[in-house]
Amino acid sequence: MRKTVEILGVSIDCVTMNQAVQTVKGFLSEDRVHTVYTPNAEILMCAQRDPYFKSILNQSDLVVADGAGVILAARILGLDLPEKVSGIDLIKNFLSEDMGRKVRYYLYGSKPGVAEAAAENMLRVSSRIEIAGCSHGYHPPDKEEEIINLINSSNADILLVALGAPKQEKWIHEHKKDLNVKVCMGVGGSLDVLSGNKKPAPEFLRRHGLEWLYRLCKEPWRYKRMMDLPRFMLKVLAVKAGLDKT
Ligand code: UDP
Repeated sequence: MRKTVEILGVSIDCVTMNQAVQTVKGFLSEDRVHTVYTPNAEILMCAQRDPYFKSILNQSDLVVADGAGVILAARILGLDLPEKVSGIDLIKNFLSEDMGRKVRYYLYGSKPGVAEAAAENMLRVSSRIEIAGCSHGYHPPDKEEEIINLINSSNADILLVALGAPKQEKWIHEHKKDLNVKVCMGVGGSLDVLSGNKKPAPEFLRRHGLEWLYRLCKEPWRYKRMMDLPRFMLKVLAVKAGLDKT
């Protein structure tokens, strides 16, 4: 039975990393498309302003807490979320998990060349996978059908969609009826990291919930978007104090 907690109106699965990996493994043996999203505090704030996006997150098969902010929010609200399950770590764990057969990945999104470089690195670290195909994320809208045909004819099991949030979740939601993969996962900047183009935050900062500080130093132009982090914490505190009925 699925156990979830609700943070600012979004249901998040109470799973450890290992449980999340096992859940996705289960999805691979079912004959339908499953969606996996990995909201962090910024994404949960985006969902507050965009009810359509919020409803998409709430219709997903697996929603994991990607970020120390979400875990801290759960603690403040007295909810039991076991641990942070970031998108990038989830992908890395799939790569090393024995899924009983070679799992085929299609990588869709990021700038031209990034998905191919990520695919090469994924194949280098795992002999348990195959790359079914790659497409960049800057096609004109009239190419959409072509991309869906490419994905479907590739026989992929897992589709990683890296278009940034909320674009990727909306894309998955609107096209899942046309796709024949088993799992569609929104992965944000993960292909940039897997390709080696973007360095992940150092382990020390990641462990101490300070990944945002690293991102702010590396990508200072994101500061406006990152103002959602304190806004998120304030909103959670207001909910806790009964001042906000979200
Ligand atoms: N991206 C894309 N097409 C678009 C917009 C964005 O392929 O139309 C890619 C972009 O190149 C990057 C990823 O989506 O690889 C978004 O990364 P970001 O770190 O901004 O995502 P987040 O994890 O913060 O949602």
